[in-house]
Amino acid sequence: MDHFHYLDDRIHCEEVPLDQIAEAVGTPFYCYSAKTLTHHLAVFQQAFAKTTHLICYSVKANSNLAVLDLLARNGAGFDIVSGGELERVRRIGCPGNKIVFSGVGKTREEIRQALRHGILMFNVESRSELYRIDTLAGELGVKAPVALRINPDVDPKTHPHISTGLKRNKFGIPYHNALELYRNAAQLSHIHIMGLDCHIGSQLTTLSPFVDALKRVLTLVSALKREGIHLTHLDLGGGLGIPYDQSRPPPLPDHYAGALLQELDGFDLTLILEPGRVIVGNAGVLVTRVEYIKDNEDKRFIITDAGMNDLMRPALYNAYHGIQPVVRRFGEEETVVDVVGPICESGDFFARDRLLPPFAEGDLLMVRSAGAYGFVMSGNYNTRPRAAEVLVQGNRFTVVRRRETLDELLNHETLLPQGS
Ligand SMILES: *Cc1c(COP(=O)(O)O)cnc(C)c1O
Repeated sequence: MDHFHYLDDRIHCEEVPLDQIAEAVGTPFYCYSAKTLTHHLAVFQQAFAKTTHLICYSVKANSNLAVLDLLARNGAGFDIVSGGELERVRRIGCPGNKIVFSGVGKTREEIRQALRHGILMFNVESRSELYRIDTLAGELGVKAPVALRINPDVDPKTHPHISTGLKRNKFGIPYHNALELYRNAAQLSHIHIMGLDCHIGSQLTTLSPFVDALKRVLTLVSALKREGIHLTHLDLGGGLGIPYDQSRPPPLPDHYAGALLQELDGFDLTLILEPGRVIVGNAGVLVTRVEYIKDNEDKRFIITDAGMNDLMRPALYNAYHGIQPVVRRFGEEETVVDVVGPICESGDFFARDRLLPPFAEGDLLMVRSAGAYGFVMSGNYNTRPRAAEVLVQGNRFTVVRRRETLDELLNHETLLPQGS
């Protein structure tokens, strides 16, 4: 459920018409709905209410400080994957015991920062990382809380770029090496073994890969227990998909939780979940203006002022995003068009061969489901300043990241010294 809907033929985010925001902040801009964000988080929390759990929202999905702050106020902890993301959650005042740190490439400095902040646990992705953390914790005179991220080798049946739980993926510790590495970890004097972690991919639309992965890791949990290694935390990652189009919708959080909790019966573990997309994906849209309509021989192109630098998902994953006119007119026939950006790449598109209502030059259009992996993946290709981000709460909106200026973008660069 989201709060982007037509009212008097204008799309409103909650109670604010999107065209009114466009007048005030210009285009393109991302718009997030506070009510949708908090609703999605609440649904997820309620789904797991029966068990001891911590929802660690995956910061990488949408890391705007205002979004993080809103989620923290509603009880979320955070899953971070870099020192930069740690800094973000520190700035909103998140206590260490609600932070888990994932990622295959943690640097020494990132590990030190996280140790100093007293995070809940590191999700360790390799033997080398485990030993590095032990050394650094020793230098700081602390014990580092860790979970090992185990790669269960199950096929999440999602797009290959966002599948992480297969043997061939770079993530996690191979299932068959897990026991041995836990035994090693138990010998390290600055490591405190907390648990086990597993994240198999993103935009999963069926439950069976989650359940298969869980069964496999629970076998490990039991085997460890027999050896005297008692885990207290089980982190099942994120990955629950969202509906982007009209096809069969992904399972609801309630069903997802039900399937997992059934397997967990009899295990005394604090559950950690790292949802990203399912919280923010449909809580955000990208609003852009039509610059040109262009008819080539057998195709009509709607050329917008947003491009793949603003929203990369179609170019990166051939992703589908719903598109709607911000102001709706009736009685005009729909036509098949391509919606494309201004960037010099043929991959710069938002929709191909899509049946859409007619657009005129100057019209606003809304690209749906852009709240996750939208702004965070945006860049400056073609020297385009990044879009503004706006957060709506009821009848008011706040610019939570103003549009970048060309000065900000160019000030990082210098000319060579004269005469060289
Ligand atoms: C990306 C990621 C997530 C969030 O995935 P979603 O599909 O957005 O829910 C959670 N955990 C880890 C380790 C990730 O890399």
